[in-house]
Amino acid sequence: MLRQYELVERVLAYDPEADEAMLNRAYVYTVQKHGTQKRASGDPYFSHPVEVAGLMTELRLDQQTIITALLHDTVEDTLATIEDIEKNFGPEVARLVDGVTKLSKIEAMGESERAAENLRKFLLAMSEDIRVLLVKLADRLHNMRTLHFIKSADKRRRIAHETMDIYAPLAERVGMYEYMREMQLLAFEQLEPEAYATITGRLATIRSSEGGQVDAIALSIKQALAEAGLKVEVSGREKHPFSIWNKMAERHVSFEQITDIMAFRVLTDSPEDCYRALGVLHTTWQSIPGRFKDYISTPKSNGYRSLHSTLIFENSMRMEVQIRSQEMHQLNEFGFAAHWAYKQHAMPDGQVGWLRDLIEIVDASHDAEELLEHTKLAIYQDRIFAFTPKGALHQLPKGSTPVDLAYSVHSDLGNFAVGAKINGRHMPLRTTLSNGDVVEIIKSRSASPQMAWLGFVVTGKARAAIRRAVRAKEQAEVAAIGRKLYEQIVERLPSKIGKKAVKDAIKRLGLTSEIDLMVAIGTAKIEDRAVMEALVPGSTKHFAEPEDWPKQERAISIRGLTAGMAFHLAACCHPVPGDRIVGLRQAGKGVEVHAIDCLTLASGVDADWLDLSWGETTTGAVGRIRIVLYNRPGTLAEAAGIFAGNRANIAALENVSRDELFSTYEVDLDVNDLAHLTRIVSALRASDAVAEAERI
Ligand code: MN
Repeated sequence: MLRQYELVERVLAYDPEADEAMLNRAYVYTVQKHGTQKRASGDPYFSHPVEVAGLMTELRLDQQTIITALLHDTVEDTLATIEDIEKNFGPEVARLVDGVTKLSKIEAMGESERAAENLRKFLLAMSEDIRVLLVKLADRLHNMRTLHFIKSADKRRRIAHETMDIYAPLAERVGMYEYMREMQLLAFEQLEPEAYATITGRLATIRSSEGGQVDAIALSIKQALAEAGLKVEVSGREKHPFSIWNKMAERHVSFEQITDIMAFRVLTDSPEDCYRALGVLHTTWQSIPGRFKDYISTPKSNGYRSLHSTLIFENSMRMEVQIRSQEMHQLNEFGFAAHWAYKQHAMPDGQVGWLRDLIEIVDASHDAEELLEHTKLAIYQDRIFAFTPKGALHQLPKGSTPVDLAYSVHSDLGNFAVGAKINGRHMPLRTTLSNGDVVEIIKSRSASPQMAWLGFVVTGKARAAIRRAVRAKEQAEVAAIGRKLYEQIVERLPSKIGKKAVKDAIKRLGLTSEIDLMVAIGTAKIEDRAVMEALVPGSTKHFAEPEDWPKQERAISIRGLTAGMAFHLAACCHPVPGDRIVGLRQAGKGVEVHAIDCLTLASGVDADWLDLSWGETTTGAVGRIRIVLYNRPGTLAEAAGIFAGNRANIAALENVSRDELFSTYEVDLDVNDLAHLTRIVSALRASDAVAEAERI
């Protein structure tokens, strides 16, 4: 274990400005807080945070990160509080420690592939400062290094799984290839002990039988490049057991069939030399087409830069060769961390944050999306991650509410939701969720989705489910209206109606069930006469006059009504086609259609508003107008002539007032649409008989 003075010296070696006293204080703090706690290895617990801090010094990270590493388990595992840490080490360290603590809370949940993906995204989204993630990754790496001390095989496997599924990909994501490889190797050893043993055994055999071949090839590469005047470092290595195993699995091949077990790395002084070296190698040895990759001109999204090529050597062995500059190498192996540390200390004022550095890295990639992705780890800023009380993680769009989460869990949970507890507190269903919220949905079997929810849900799944549920409820209401109408119809029939008659009638009408029949009546899809005829054939003979049947509203079609609900045009405003209309839906009453500027609407009715529009085959609306006629003979006849001339029947006419000069009438006219009505009003105004004409 690193001693206190060793750790402090390491930091001072690359950052002479570091606050020595504070580093010492943090070391003592973690030793005191963890007290006599022990690791599975039998070491005192504080050896772990000290080692994690040591890993951070290898990356030359700043003092705040080193202190965060030292304190990273104190809030989770000891009596220390964030407030106490803030008091002793300042707000920045407190924020970073808080970040690492939050990440620690969500371990051990990923089971399926999907869950793992979610968890990775969650970790990224939560790590608002990349230093939080770096400490977390170092924490995991050290735990993997000491994994073999844990006695329970199940626990070792679980931790190894988590590392393979979540932390190694995250390390790759931020370019920490060193960490990624070591994590994979240690996890692989736990998860596939037999494969691990076989592959490492084979590698050992190759090494002894072909002894020195790696070195020999490395030397010939170096000579070829030296002859061309290039100063390079060449190193050769076997691929590590996990990546060999991965290739075997991916390509379904045996160990013997893996040809490029050896890999070589050429480090140059400049990017230009990389391309020169590539040219030399490609003219000295044969290369395999399709295997050349230029990550210098087009870096990987995590900033990785290198040239890759696969060459065939004398003995027909394939070798992967990676060519990069020394500086690229440094950045590649430790990703953002290296870049950040490098820049931080190169800057005289030391004020440059990692954020701006990342912008510089990805400037080379010319891709706005990538830029955003790197600078803020902000790819997931458009979504949030919330937990169920059992710890299942759900990914939702930003702005989501408990209702969205409920439907994301199960449509029944959404349908029966009546309230929510967010992080243990009762909150309204319309509350916007934040990252990391634990959401408990309170449900009631008698509850049903509310139309008003459509005003705040953001997921399509919730929206569709709410609409479906509301529609089903409306269907039930329509059927209830239909049943009332049906009972009135039956009363007009000469005989009592038995069950069989109803069944036969349903068949005759081409329907399938009694509910269908009620809905058809409620939505006016079939006329009363037809129902009567179906129930008792011949029963409508004495109702021969079609005028007996109110057909006015039946001819109107309106769009926007779910399930063709029963409706009527409001008597207060007499909307006609062409008017902007809305529907008021009151429970058990069907829909009342109003003109948008109707005063009834402004007075605030307790009903759902439906956004409606007129259908195409609309006829038979009634428009109401008021006309003021000069009080002399023939003026009413003249007005009537105008109605007739415009093919508008008078549905009702009422004289509302009369004095010496004027007679005022209110007239209901059957009109086709708003244009029709407007034309009539204009014609009236043009007439000598009419003093005033207006729609009311
Ligand atoms: Mn830890």
